[in-house]
Amino acid sequence: MREDLIRRIVIVGGGTAGWMAAAALSRLIGRMPGLELELVESDAIGTVGVGEATIPHITLFNTMLGIDEAAFVRETNATYKLGIEFVDWHRIGHRYIHPFGVYGLDMLGVEFHHFWLKARTLGDPTPLDAYSIGIAGGLRGRFAHPRPDQPNSPLAKLGYAFQFDAGLYAAFLRRLAEGMGACRTEGRIVDVRRDGGSGHVAAVLLESGKEVAGDLFLDCTGFRGLLIEQTMGAGFRDWTHWLPCDRAVAVPCALGGDHLPLTRATARAAGWQWRIPLQHRIGNGYVYAGDYLSDDEAVATLLANLDGPALADPRPLRFRAGHRDRAWIGNVVVLGLAGGFLEPLESTSIHLIQSGIGRLMALFPSRGFDALEIERFNRETAQEYEDIRDFLILHYKATERDDSAFWRRCRDLEPPEGLAEKLALFRGNGRIHPAQRELFQQASWLAVMNGQGITPAGYHPVADLLSDAETRERLKHIAQVIDETANAMPLQDDYLRQIGCAL
Ligand code: FAD
Repeated sequence: MREDLIRRIVIVGGGTAGWMAAAALSRLIGRMPGLELELVESDAIGTVGVGEATIPHITLFNTMLGIDEAAFVRETNATYKLGIEFVDWHRIGHRYIHPFGVYGLDMLGVEFHHFWLKARTLGDPTPLDAYSIGIAGGLRGRFAHPRPDQPNSPLAKLGYAFQFDAGLYAAFLRRLAEGMGACRTEGRIVDVRRDGGSGHVAAVLLESGKEVAGDLFLDCTGFRGLLIEQTMGAGFRDWTHWLPCDRAVAVPCALGGDHLPLTRATARAAGWQWRIPLQHRIGNGYVYAGDYLSDDEAVATLLANLDGPALADPRPLRFRAGHRDRAWIGNVVVLGLAGGFLEPLESTSIHLIQSGIGRLMALFPSRGFDALEIERFNRETAQEYEDIRDFLILHYKATERDDSAFWRRCRDLEPPEGLAEKLALFRGNGRIHPAQRELFQQASWLAVMNGQGITPAGYHPVADLLSDAETRERLKHIAQVIDETANAMPLQDDYLRQIGCAL
């Protein structure tokens, strides 16, 4: 066995990031001989307390942990999520859905939307939404699991995620991690001891006087970035000029309004409001740009737009869009908010934790800490943030709104090069070619570009291999099958009751 194995991993912080890391590492490498895993968190400091909406990749994370989905849904007060509904983004009064899963089915080896674009030139007014089982089911309040075993069913490629109580999820993961041997220490870290030679973090010192030493430290301390920034001075790549929202105010409210398996993002004068329905309450928040709206106005707008009575005082949050220049320095790896933040418009933060853990596992170090591997980790992390950033900017850039200074600024902003190219390709012949590594793939870009009113001038020439009549006929059939399948899906609420949730 190698002599330079990591023996002690210290996870600093016990929010969603810390406990996701503790559970995953316990599961994946907890049985490495002699390995100890300790998580330090401060009850007095607490967690950020938001982060309720996810994307489908979380099902892979939960499966890797061996989590029973029904138990997880019951214990975290979760609901299912088939996509995100965007209200008033393109223009006031307009709405669209970014569904998980695909539209229609590929024909003649070409993406479905080219045939839909062709049908439109033939005068067929059927909206793209009619070809998404996620949208059809979501708008009817229905939910079913994907059926990859039925390749001809629209359910074969349905995607789903969850909306849950983040505090309960962290507690759920804590039970798992502790059950697998991770140990937890409560206390506030007041100092950090570094190795004089390597500059590595040797130990964190708690208020109680206790010292927690380790070979590898995972900084999960939230916006503070206690190790990665305050100790190692990672630096921050600031994207405020592209994503100007820098504040949020959050408040839960009692259930009210519809109970669809969708997160809702409603554009407001200087940002947007989220609505995340859980089993027992609705999570709400207004993400806004402090340059364009006062905190008082944000609170007033949020409270005036709830579907039920507020259940707590509104909670203010401040942030900066961007990420650390380096996510791994020496023996410190950052996960979660300590590493960066992109507003929760597409619910990507928890996913970034998950993919960070995956990357760490792929490049798991020895005590030698290979500089090339660290560099690779940092490059891939930065690339992932950039890819997501461009997708988020699209929502702001592609708007017709000019009713406030905020929206005029968004509409007029110069997009990053990669996004500008994507927009040009789509505007031409409806081409969508995200790189394979990108989190958001073809259907997601299509949903948002089409939803925000961008209409391509042409379509793939291969679509013309199908006659006009055949194009109409096939599309009509696909929409019909999706409609019938959606009607046969159980109502989400019935399904939740069936698995033992007390609704
Ligand atoms: P935190 O929850 O802040 O945890 C930090 C931990 O570090 C705590 O345990 C704290 O006690 C500990 N700590 C800090 N300093 C010390 C110290 N000195 N000593 C000891 N312990 C210390 N994500 C999504 O995926 N979907 C969403 O819908 C979503 N919505 C969001 C909305 C807003 C407005 C914001 C700001 C974030 C949102 N997120 C969302 C992000 C999500 O909340 C976070 O990614 C997630 O909660 C992880 O947070 P964290 O664990 O990194 O940090």
